[in-house]
Amino acid sequence: MALQSINPATDQLVAEHPETTPDEVTRILRAARAASGSWRRTAPPERAASLRRAGALLRARKDELARMMAVEMGKPLAQGRAEAEKCAWVCDYYAEEGAGFLAPETIPTDASRSYAAFEPLGVVLAVMPWNFPLWQVFRFAAPALMAGNAGLLKHASNVSGCALAIERVLHDAGIPPAVFRSLLVGSGRVASIIEAPEVAAVTLTGSTPAGRSVARAAGAALKKTVLELGGSDPYLVLEDADLELAVESCVASRLINGGQSCIAAKRFIVVEAVRTRFEVLFVEKMRSKRMGDPLEEGVDLGPQARRDLRDELHGQVERSVARGARVLLGALLPAGKGAFYPPSVLTDVAPGMPAYDEELFGPVAAIIGVPDEAEAVRVANDSPFGLGAAVFTRDLARGERIARDELAAGSCFVNAFVKSDPRLPFGGIRESGYGRELSRFGIREFVNVKTIYVK
Ligand code: NAP
Repeated sequence: MALQSINPATDQLVAEHPETTPDEVTRILRAARAASGSWRRTAPPERAASLRRAGALLRARKDELARMMAVEMGKPLAQGRAEAEKCAWVCDYYAEEGAGFLAPETIPTDASRSYAAFEPLGVVLAVMPWNFPLWQVFRFAAPALMAGNAGLLKHASNVSGCALAIERVLHDAGIPPAVFRSLLVGSGRVASIIEAPEVAAVTLTGSTPAGRSVARAAGAALKKTVLELGGSDPYLVLEDADLELAVESCVASRLINGGQSCIAAKRFIVVEAVRTRFEVLFVEKMRSKRMGDPLEEGVDLGPQARRDLRDELHGQVERSVARGARVLLGALLPAGKGAFYPPSVLTDVAPGMPAYDEELFGPVAAIIGVPDEAEAVRVANDSPFGLGAAVFTRDLARGERIARDELAAGSCFVNAFVKSDPRLPFGGIRESGYGRELSRFGIREFVNVKTIYVK
């Protein structure tokens, strides 16, 4: 069996990667567990130096990495280069801060010395999605490796070239080969790998159904999990918002990566007093974006990552329209090659429509009109997800109050679109998952918080 990489702009087969056989998986698991024993004993400055070298290699290879992402999942080149740079940033960040985050914490008690020490768990399995094929992996790998864990990557089946390129970066940076390996396997083989005694913990970034399935397998084997799942982030545009800023941020957040981001803006909850003006400006901006071959410079929007996902998105749009949503832009399936889908805007979106109830993982905006702030907050929280949220208002105290006290989400931004940053914790609540990545919270997910008590 082989995993296929198909260029979503041309529908052409890019490469076929033979699957890692069950015997090879067993060998890799055993080698990872053995190697994790010596890796955890390397001095933190040595681990940090490997991460710094990985960062330098990511910068040096950003053009080829961007090209790989463009042909495997349709990301425009400029966005791919920026992604490689961001991965270098997270490597540098944990190289710099990791040892401090894991320094023992003294806790005064009746003992002569008592403290919490942080030690690695062992081999961590990462099940990762195709949408940010480098970033999703490095934001797990940099802290996990810095903490002294070994990592095994089961990447999405359509981005095996990216998985192997990541492995090369880390090995060339001096990470021992057995400490980080890619397993080229389909999702059907994940549960058996989780059960393997060599695996200590698992992290998944992906859809809610995949998260449930991994959590079920990990629960049965009593292994720690971190889940970063889907989202349907609400963006509240209040009557006192700076509309130019709101529109700029909302469009950028809805269209980045072809709309295929877990923290993309998905529901635009707009107070009626400014709704018409918002809609005009928003549609104008969405229309101005250029869709095309991701290998061409200057393209804003490539194809969707796979045809089946593009068709599923269009089905959600069609069902929303059948139930009363109004199309302000796009929403038509393009003819011809590739998995393209145009920037699209739906308004009058209401409960019972996929655009309200589900995640739209593509460049489709759902506008929901509300009379006031109270209703905006109620609609924002009327979702099974809870990943990110943003509020636009000129009154910063009001915005901060809504962000802190009213919105149910892992990250709430005021007058800016939600983004991940190595320095800030990232993760969700409810069906968006649990656990945190990035920052000092992320590096502590895959460690044993060990109590030491010396009488
Ligand atoms: P997906 O189908 O869930 O795939 C993600 C990964 O999980 C892939 O490696 C996939 O392998 C694997 N997988 C799928 N079903 C599985 C199962 N039953 N058991 C074990 N592994 C399984 O998601 P996607 O379509 O790639 O990505 C889109 C989703 O991810 C969206 O919902 C998005 O919001 C979410 N996402 C969340 C975050 C976050 O940080 N919260 C970030 C990015 C994306 P195969 O490729 O082999 O099927």
